[in-house]
Amino acid sequence: MARTAGRKGRVWRRNKAQALADAGYVCWICGHGGARYADHKIPLAQWRAMGGDPNDPANLAPAHGALNRCQVCGRCCNESKGNRPYKPSSRGSRDW
Ligand SMILES: [Zn+2]
Ligand SMILES: [Zn+2]
Repeated sequence: MARTAGRKGRVWRRNKAQALADAGYVCWICGHGGARYADHKIPLAQWRAMGGDPNDPANLAPAHGALNRCQVCGRCCNESKGNRPYKPSSRGSRDW
């Protein structure tokens, strides 16, 4: 298996932009719009352990960040999330 760690180049940017656009820039944490950070829904370590590609847009979702606070609730969701456990949501689930 090829090691792709550290190759966060063009692919990453494209996937990220795609994931954000697909989700309509709606923050997956607070549910408000205007989110321009790509967040990993499942922490990367866990995602890799599950056999996931770090660049897979399926694991990316828009979130608000420190420089992009939510204008509705004022949170920077990405930062405040911490290590909260992942809760599978019915929305955007995929049949593997
Ligand atoms: Zn948010
Ligand atoms: Zn919000």
